[in-house]
Order: sequence, then C-alpha cells, then structure tokens
Amino acid sequence: MKCPHCQSKMKRELMEDRVPVYRCVSCAGTWVSSSEFADWVEGQSSVPVKEEISKESVNIPVLGARKPLLCPDCGRIVRRFKIWPNLEFYLDRCGGCNGIWFDQHEWEVFNEHWSVKNLNMFFTDEWQQKLKKEEMASRFSAMYLERFGEDDYNKIQEIRKWIYANSNKNQLVAYLLDSNPYES
Ligand SMILES: [Zn+2]
Ligand SMILES: [Zn+2]
Repeated sequence: MKCPHCQSKMKRELMEDRVPVYRCVSCAGTWVSSSEFADWVEGQSSVPVKEEISKESVNIPVLGARKPLLCPDCGRIVRRFKIWPNLEFYLDRCGGCNGIWFDQHEWEVFNEHWSVKNLNMFFTDEWQQKLKKEEMASRFSAMYLERFGEDDYNKIQEIRKWIYANSNKNQLVAYLLDSNPYES
C-alpha cells in the first residue's frame, strides 16, 4: 500500500492496544482500514466521550497545505471531518470504504483526548449535526455579547431563564413589553 499523502511506502504497525494500521515511512501519516478497525473495535469495551475539552489543552498538529487525498484502499476521495466544536482539528475519512487517515501526530492527539475506541462516533450524522449546532450557538452567543455588553447580556440571560421557567410566562412578557401596564 502507498501513502495517500506522499506516495511513499506504508508499513504495517500495531498501535497501542494493538490496533492494526498502515504507517507511512516518510510522512508518518497513519491509515486505518475500515474492516480491520471494525474487527478490532468490536472486542473493545467502550469509553465515555468527554463532555468538555478546553481548546488550550489540545495541541493541534500544524500541517502544511495539502492536496485532497485519494483513498489507498478504494481510490475514492477522502473527506475532511471536524471532530469537535470550535476546534480546528480534522480527520479524513473515505466516503467509499470508511477508511480513516491521520496526518502526522493526529493519531496521538486524537487518542489522548477522545480515544480511538470512539473513532466511528465522530463521523456519524448525529455527531456532525450536534457539532454544527453547538458552533452555531457559540456564534450567536458571541454576537449577543458584542451587541449587549457583558453585564447586560448576563442580566438578560438570567431574566430570560426566569421567565421561561415561570408558569405565567406569557403574562410576564406582556407586562414587560407594555409601556404602561397600569392603564387599560
Ligand atoms: Zn506519507
Ligand atoms: Zn476508500
């Protein structure tokens, strides 16, 4: 098998916990074939995915510009997937056979923070949609913060929470928006 990134030779390796992979002798990228990974992961007990990861704790590998990759197993184009909201960390996965590519250091970083046992979860529609939703929410949050300023934004969030938890929600909103609620 040839490296999809630099066309050098790839050699067989067993990563920690004996995950069978191909590793490029030149660029140190790692290819995980889908069926081999499925066999391996089936025998593994799952580990919980962390709820939160601080951006600062992830040492994102710096990569140069790169051409799109072609899958070394089936020849189709490999797609980039974001892994975590608001974090510029991507993995590449083949749309044809589901093989996965890690550029140099990406395997180690991924395994440290998310565990390779959870690898497939990050490519599901469910996860990818959740990720986009969270990114959207943080963009809105940043917009409100800029519009209102920190103090007012904190205050309005508290008021909103209180109103929405109240069984008289509609009357409270009506009272609030009425310029003179003491006149008929
Ligand atoms: Zn290579
Ligand atoms: Zn493929």
